[in-house]
Amino acid sequence: MMGPSHALSGAAVWLTGSWALDQFADYHQSPLALAVGTAVCAGGALFPDLDLSGKVTRNQGGATVARTFGVFSLFIAEVMEKVSLGVYYATKLSRDPRRNNGHRTLTHTLPFTVLVGWGTTALCAAYGKWAVVSILFFMIGLALRGLFDEWAERAGWVIVTLASAAAAWFTFANLPGDRGYPMIGVAVGVGCFVHILGDMITKAGVPILWPIPIKRRMWLMVGLPNGIALRTGSKAEVIVLRTVLTVLSVLAAVGLVAPSVLHRFNIEV
Ligand SMILES: [Zn+2]
Repeated sequence: MMGPSHALSGAAVWLTGSWALDQFADYHQSPLALAVGTAVCAGGALFPDLDLSGKVTRNQGGATVARTFGVFSLFIAEVMEKVSLGVYYATKLSRDPRRNNGHRTLTHTLPFTVLVGWGTTALCAAYGKWAVVSILFFMIGLALRGLFDEWAERAGWVIVTLASAAAAWFTFANLPGDRGYPMIGVAVGVGCFVHILGDMITKAGVPILWPIPIKRRMWLMVGLPNGIALRTGSKAEVIVLRTVLTVLSVLAAVGLVAPSVLHRFNIEV
């Protein structure tokens, strides 16, 4: 799947999940908390592809997400790819093939998803304000890059960086109290998980079972069979899937926000 589809799926899952919690579990969130959760989950849904490196020195290539903050994120992607490849070789079994690139390995596993979600929560709890602002800045940058890809491409990474910094600061200034915000960690983790599911419906698949060894393979790629797998960049992805995700997001957002707007104008439903 391409970056924008991943980001959109993160946003759609967060919004529909929040709507379900609101309806059936009586768990309500403020409009700002909803917006932050949605942006962080959309950003988190791009995060695993930070293992797709480009050419740092020439500021080229890499996944959508790797270009978010120009050469800085390309450098992070380079490191993530090499670390992933290192973990691949350190844990590979006899029937796992040789590879020369770490893309779609470590960052596309369930332990990584849990680690990132837990790590985010731990950072926010330990460092409070500054961790929250930094993580929001990073995740909002990824979300802007994914959700508004054409704008981001035209505007360039400097504008994207400035926009995310402004959004992160505004959010922090308006979120109540100086506390840990475990919701941010949950949103990042859910985003990573949604990314893995998105890659699972493509032919290449993901090593979802890692680190469980199956038939002398630790890194078995699990994906849909050729006939029904989603082709990256196909009409099914760019038109059908994105339309469905957009409609879901809009319906959930309306369902979440409409009651309080109506209430404000004293309209009972
Ligand atoms: Zn991926």
